Amino acid sequence: MSIFDFFRKKEKKENLWTKCEECKNILLAQELETNFYVCPKCGHHHQMNPYLWANMILDYNYTVLFEYIKPTDFLSFKDTKKYKDRLKMLKESSNTSEAITIFDGKLSDYPIILSVMDFSFIGGSMGSVVGERFKLASLKAVQDRKPHISVITSGGARMQESVISLMQMAKTSIAVDIMHKNSVPFITVLTNPTTGGVSASFAFLGDIIIAEPKAIIGFAGARVIEQTIKQQLPEDFQTSEFLLKKGMIDMVVHRHLMKQTLKNILSLLFYKNA
Ligand SMILES: [Zn+2]
Repeated sequence: MSIFDFFRKKEKKENLWTKCEECKNILLAQELETNFYVCPKCGHHHQMNPYLWANMILDYNYTVLFEYIKPTDFLSFKDTKKYKDRLKMLKESSNTSEAITIFDGKLSDYPIILSVMDFSFIGGSMGSVVGERFKLASLKAVQDRKPHISVITSGGARMQESVISLMQMAKTSIAVDIMHKNSVPFITVLTNPTTGGVSASFAFLGDIIIAEPKAIIGFAGARVIEQTIKQQLPEDFQTSEFLLKKGMIDMVVHRHLMKQTLKNILSLLFYKNA
């Protein structure tokens, strides 16, 4: 290892400073983390790791489920890199083992199943493991009679798993239907960005759909739609606020108020005072 590599590695490890992707202000990384990744200058909601979501929402002492289901390269897929190599690299660098992590815990004493997606894991794409873990989380919610809360971010289906990833749309939709039929509440929290096959399946099937401020939510990208219909789209198209105005979602909630909002909803569902 050269001395440059050493400093580069050290810099990466300490990561003292970071830049807000919206207002471009330089921020202390730790300050951003303690603010749950909401920029203290402009309020932009950055993506947040599933474990930080769990720490923010759940009471102490939760468990992580279905980690034994791990992704494999069953099609020997290669794009600019081999899928196998991407997975190997992520295994070493990522602190999640797939683009969804399932937690079993309590939110202010209300028992829930929490699933949280991770955009840093191949764009939060839905492959076979995301679909399977989501399905098992939903069945566990039914079995234990607990609401399922899902914090979502995704670029869509995982192209490295081809048609198998598209099948997950049907599978996750059926899992939501099983929850509906068993009167188990399903609440989705859409974060930036929620697009493609995930928005076209379980993200919009929530009994209650919450979104974070200014999140990009849609199926195809705005540019593709503009080119297809040959019309200019409104400026706030595909944002949480636009979708709220059009009745597609139920509420837009700031991340700092998310736990209290979920607690209020759970208290209504459990017929207890908040
Ligand atoms: Zn900012």
